[in-house]
Amino acid sequence: EQTVTVIGAGLAGVEAAWQIANAGYSVRLHEMKPVKFSPAHKSAGFAELICSNSLKAARIDSAAGLLKEEMRRLGSLLTTCAEEARVPAGGALAVDRDLFSEMATEKIRSHPNVEVITGEVTDIPETGVTVIASGPLTSDALAEKITSLCGGALSFFDAAAPIVTRESLDMEHCFTASRYDKGDDDYINCPMNKEEYEAFYEALVTAERAPIHDFDVMNPKVYEGCMPIEVMAQRGHDTIRFGPLKPVGLRDPRTGRRPWAVVQLRTENKEKTLFNLVGFQTNLKFPEQKRVFGLIPGLRNAEYMRYGVMHRNTFLDSPKLLNADFSLRERPELFFAGQMTGVEGYMESAASGILAGINAVRRLEGKTPLILPETTMMGALAGHVAHSESKDFQPMGANFGIFPPIEPHIRDKRARYEAFAGRALDDLDTCLAENGMKD
Ligand code: FAD
Repeated sequence: EQTVTVIGAGLAGVEAAWQIANAGYSVRLHEMKPVKFSPAHKSAGFAELICSNSLKAARIDSAAGLLKEEMRRLGSLLTTCAEEARVPAGGALAVDRDLFSEMATEKIRSHPNVEVITGEVTDIPETGVTVIASGPLTSDALAEKITSLCGGALSFFDAAAPIVTRESLDMEHCFTASRYDKGDDDYINCPMNKEEYEAFYEALVTAERAPIHDFDVMNPKVYEGCMPIEVMAQRGHDTIRFGPLKPVGLRDPRTGRRPWAVVQLRTENKEKTLFNLVGFQTNLKFPEQKRVFGLIPGLRNAEYMRYGVMHRNTFLDSPKLLNADFSLRERPELFFAGQMTGVEGYMESAASGILAGINAVRRLEGKTPLILPETTMMGALAGHVAHSESKDFQPMGANFGIFPPIEPHIRDKRARYEAFAGRALDDLDTCLAENGMKD
C-alpha cells in the first residue's frame, strides 16, 4: 500500500505528513482534536504550541538556531509558518501561536495528498507504514497499546535532574572521585562546607516553584518515587545531607577531610561533556535553579543544557527500542516521532517528524534510511534517541554539548559555536547530496 498513516497532528505529525505528502504519497492523518483534548491542548488547530510561544534562538551559530536552519534545508513546513507568524522577541524566534497553527493547519488540510481523519486512535495499525506522533500527552488508550508493544518500556512522568556542561564547572571547587574509591573517578564532586550548605539550604527551601498542573500528578505513586530535592529538603534541615548530598566515602583533596555536604555529578555522554546533578530532580522555576544551584561553589558559573523538570511526559525508552531513523527495531515499518521519542522541545519534536517522514517514504521505496551525521543537530538528536548510553534515559533538547568535539579545541565559545554550526551545515549538505536529496 502506498498510503502512510500518521497519528497526531502536533509539531512532529504535521512535519511527517508534509514530507510524505510532498514525496507524492497519500497520508491518512489522524487527530483527536476537537473531539478529544489532552489536558494541555486548548485549540482545534494543528501544531498547537501548548506553553511558551518561543521557538528559541534564531542565530544559526546557536544550537536552537542551527536546528531550525537544518530543518529549513530539509523542507520543513513549520519553520516557514514560523517566519510568517513571527513576532518581535529580540534574538529569539517567537510566533503568534494562533496564526502559526492556522497556517500549518491550512497547508496540511489543503494538500491534495492528505486526508485528515478526526477522532482518537485507540489501536496501532497492524500493517502498513505508520508514524506515531501522539506527543507527551498521548491519550490513555493509545498509550496502553504502545506500552504493550514496547514491553512496558514507556515513561509517563518526567522527573529529571538538571544537566550542566563540563567546561562550565569551576574545577577549583570540584574534585573527581567515586565514593569509597570504588570505580574509576567516575564522579565530579562539588563539596560544601557548613556555611555554604546553610546558605544553599535556605535558598532551596524558599525558592519559587513551577506550578503543578492536575495532569502532572495524575500518578502520585511515581511522584513519591522521585521526590523533588526541594521537597525532600523541607522534611528536615539535614535530610538531604543524609540523602543525595551525603559526604560519606569522599575526601576533599584540597583539605584532606570529608566535606560537610557533597553534590555529585554523573556523566551523561560518552564524550563526558555533559553532567547531571545526581538526585536533583526538581520542580523549581528555571531561573531559580540557576540561582539556587549557583550557590554550590563548583556550580557558580554552570551552564545548563537542560533544567530539571517534573511533569507528565509520555516517552519511550528509545535507546532500547528505536533505530536512528526513528523506526521500531522490532517492526521497522512503524515509526515514532516527536517528544515521545526522547527529544525535548517544539522544534526538536518537529525535526524528528521530518526525519520520520523522510524515512517512512524511503521505507516504502525500499531505500536505505537517511541517517544524518552526528555532527549535525538533527543527527545528534537522532543519535541520542537511538544510542544514548545513559542508564536513566531522558529527553534532550538541541545543545552543542551533544556534538563530537572539534580538535584542536577552540577556547572562545562564540568561535567554537560558529565552527560547530559551519561543520554541521557542510556535513548536512554533503550527506543530502550523497543521498540524492540535493544537487
Ligand atoms: P504534540 O504537539 O502534543 O502533538 C501530539 C498530537 O497528537 C496532539 O495534537 C494530540 O491531540 C494528538 N493525539 C494524542 N493522542 C492521540 C490519539 N490517541 N489519537 C489521535 N490524536 C492524538 N516545548 C517547548 O519547546 N517549549 C515549551 O514551552 C513547552 N511546554 C510544554 C508544556 C507541557 C505541559 C508539555 C507536556 C510539554 C511542553 N513542551 C514544550 C515539550 C514539547 O515541545 C511539546 O510537548 C511539543 O508539542 C511536542 O510535540 P509532539 O509533536 O511530540 O506532540
